[in-house]
Amino acid sequence: MGSLVEELIIGGGTPTATPHQAREYLRTAPDRLLTDAEIEEIVAAFVHWGGLVGIAWDRPFAQACHETRLFRFGNQVALVQRNPAGIGATNDGAPGLTFPTWTQGIAAMLIHLMAWCDRLDLAKLIHRTPTDLDPRIPIVAQVRAEKGKAVTWGDLGGRWAVPGVGYAAAIERHHNAILALPDAPGATKGPNMALAIRDAIIPATNANRPKLPMVPKYITVHETSNPNVGADAEMHRKFLVNGGGPEGVSFHWCVDDTEAVHLIPDNENAWHAGDGANGTGNRQSIGIETCVNADGDWAKTRANLAALVAHLMVRHGIPLANVVQHNRWSQKNCPLIMRRDGLWAGQIAAIKVAYEALTKPPAPSGMMEPVITERRDWQGKGKLVAEEVTVVNTDTGKHYSRKVRHDAAGVVLEDWREV
Ligand SMILES: [Zn+2]
Repeated sequence: MGSLVEELIIGGGTPTATPHQAREYLRTAPDRLLTDAEIEEIVAAFVHWGGLVGIAWDRPFAQACHETRLFRFGNQVALVQRNPAGIGATNDGAPGLTFPTWTQGIAAMLIHLMAWCDRLDLAKLIHRTPTDLDPRIPIVAQVRAEKGKAVTWGDLGGRWAVPGVGYAAAIERHHNAILALPDAPGATKGPNMALAIRDAIIPATNANRPKLPMVPKYITVHETSNPNVGADAEMHRKFLVNGGGPEGVSFHWCVDDTEAVHLIPDNENAWHAGDGANGTGNRQSIGIETCVNADGDWAKTRANLAALVAHLMVRHGIPLANVVQHNRWSQKNCPLIMRRDGLWAGQIAAIKVAYEALTKPPAPSGMMEPVITERRDWQGKGKLVAEEVTVVNTDTGKHYSRKVRHDAAGVVLEDWREV
């Protein structure tokens, strides 16, 4: 189990906790210091920014719970700094940055995470100039150049956390404790929930998992061409685990009308394109098998395919022009039904809609929208100003607002009031 946690890919998967569970986790924390409205703001910020960059928000939330001792802080960084990543706090005792809102501090945390993953392209979805929120990015880049980027949560040990032994397991303990809490009826799992993603990476010892490193530049769409009843994503997962047939084929993802199953890490190649051992399709593209089982809902499967492709485009910075048919690489008549029935243009249009929905900030409904009356220098060098922050509770629809003033005495937080 330990190794499974260590190997969990940062950014992979769909949230398994609900915002309600996350709020309950902070509400019931021993020696809790946060107000109800702060808890709402914090959880909403993780859901919002996580959805924006296509990362399951509940795991960085669990990481923040670990880093901040359940948002009680109490070490070098104070709660009032709203800096869960401890950005700028160093061994020489520097206290680190202060953010005017939790929303900003959590944005900086996710940017910091992206910096370790060498995904500043994604960080730009949060802020056009990520270094404005996280001035430590150049230092992260230096360490990354020495030690390599983080791909899995285990990789953060020895990078983000030093020495970091058991770092991923500590995050997992928080995550499990969150999942153990009661859920609210009808609770949403956040923007990623539209598509159920299941991580089921096949064993590294499989011969059809060649493990050649890959930087994905394309996304290749296939159809399984297996119309049999029951030939769904789970059946194709078993097919890959059992070796991928006499030719030892493999593919990164398989999607049906209920889920997308992740079978080969996106940063490794798979044998799916039929263009040879060094072909661009086989070595630079993520292969997705689309199920055509007779008992599947074909329209739903195609909708899930669109959502999956959009996710992968965001996650890997792949443009729509590089979403291609298997036919592109080896002239095979695949994806067969989409080609035969003239569905490809519509499929591309659906992917475009899903991509735009994913990269646009979610609508205010259910999301916390901070209203900042005046901006403050993130690094504390600017003049003292005041901000007003408004948050929305996604469960009750109630709005709360409070003023944050900065004067000679420091940061003064007025009480939250319902508006
Ligand atoms: Zn194919």
